Amino acid sequence: MNAQPTASLFINGKHVEGQGKELPVHYAYTGETIATLHEATTDQVAEACRAAKEAQPAWAAMAPVERGRILGRAAAIIMERNDELARLETLDTGKPIQETEVADWPSGAAALEYFAGLAATLTGQYIPLGADWAYTRREALGVCAGIGAWNYPSQIACWKAAPALIMGNTMVFKPSEETPLGALKLAEIFIEAGMPAGVFNVVQGRGEVGAALVTDPNVEKVSLTGSVPTGRKVYTAAAEGMRHVTMELGGKSPLIVFDDANLEDAVSAAILANFYSSGQICSNGTRVFLQEGIKGPFLERLAERVKAIKMGDPLDPDTNHGPIINPTQAAKIREAIASGQAAGARLVCGGPGEGAFIPPTVFADATDDMTIATDEIFGPVMTTLSFFDEEEAVRRANGTGFGLAAGVFTQDLTRAHRVVAGLEAGTCWINTYNLTPVEMPFGGVKNSGLGRENSAAAIEHYSQLKSVYVGMGGVDAPY
Ligand code: NAD
Repeated sequence: MNAQPTASLFINGKHVEGQGKELPVHYAYTGETIATLHEATTDQVAEACRAAKEAQPAWAAMAPVERGRILGRAAAIIMERNDELARLETLDTGKPIQETEVADWPSGAAALEYFAGLAATLTGQYIPLGADWAYTRREALGVCAGIGAWNYPSQIACWKAAPALIMGNTMVFKPSEETPLGALKLAEIFIEAGMPAGVFNVVQGRGEVGAALVTDPNVEKVSLTGSVPTGRKVYTAAAEGMRHVTMELGGKSPLIVFDDANLEDAVSAAILANFYSSGQICSNGTRVFLQEGIKGPFLERLAERVKAIKMGDPLDPDTNHGPIINPTQAAKIREAIASGQAAGARLVCGGPGEGAFIPPTVFADATDDMTIATDEIFGPVMTTLSFFDEEEAVRRANGTGFGLAAGVFTQDLTRAHRVVAGLEAGTCWINTYNLTPVEMPFGGVKNSGLGRENSAAAIEHYSQLKSVYVGMGGVDAPY
């Protein structure tokens, strides 16, 4: 299988070969090398940032609807080519085609469409001050650096580019070194849609290339999707230059299931909250708190339903559980499973699996202090814990440094809203899980990050306000 792109980088509207270290791209299902790219050197990162800096004033000076039209055309191209793009996303990530066809590029296109529509509504404020008045201008920040994780590479590129570009910023995007292919397609599609050269650039590389991008003197804003340890490094480096940041980091989110929940729906949600994309999702509800009365039936039904999963070839449309991104990550997940067993948690189903595949794994009778209940595993491992009452569930759900997401299942309307109000999480779901429509803000609190992606809220993180006081009379000085 060959997925070799025209060149590794995309700078100033052109394909450019990277002059840095080799970057092989492996298909997670077979391990075969499907492309060989090269990292950007520090000079090439600087060149991309200069191109973005030079392109920014003219891009920002365009009427917002014009920018919106370009993003809208890009969204249409993506949807026309969704089949081909989904196949590439599957090769890049190993995720089942069943998922990439509906979730990855389509949600990226939705972000482009959403912000394209929002373009014409972005305004400042008029502030009356008696005879005088003031107004605010919502202005672009300048060059934004986007850095992506490997689980949703194309969605992440679109989620960052759409609000940044609609505001008149330009972007240099570095995808994860594990999944470098989709962002290059996005760069080509933008040009085809009429975007001027230099507005969206792509550099490739591992962490050091990301670090060079974050500290480039032309970069005004950094938006990272990645793990908490990387987030700390990037936030620290960005602070040095007083750069704006958005941090979309990891989680260990709670999903609380009360006795009165609809059992079948709660089980479905727990499956989606743990096993979609082989569990490689930041917002996953990996700590499932089960109230004592529903615990038995829930685990029984879950184990039964999980048996129906079809693991295998990600390009087979019937496959719904694919391989883990790479052997290192698979080994980390296996270590976590072994630690759960060693700590005395009961393995309800699943286990270490073989090769690139780890089956849906469920632990019961876990305690809050076990590492399977405290650490992000980023694999198909669900830890269930039991509780007696609401106060206890909320307190224990909040007993973590993470705060990305949370969910609650109950038929009691007032309890649902009361619980959600008490949960320390940026994104919550009631009687569903893991739905992230572009209309709704998405992001974390505590160590899971800051800033919000999607919705009009994202605009605040890609713009700054300028206040303008307008004097309408004479100036009265005391001497
Ligand atoms: P990671 O932190 O290893 O890498 C993320 C990106 O940061 C990569 O592109 C990497 O090259 C880059 N990077 C690494 N060190 C850097 C440095 N010093 N300076 C600049 N860039 C650097 O994360 P990953 O393994 O690719 O992804 C998995 C993690 O991402 C999980 O923790 C997951 O929860 C999180 N994630 C969060 C969200 C969200 O929206 N909150 C979404 C997806 C994934």
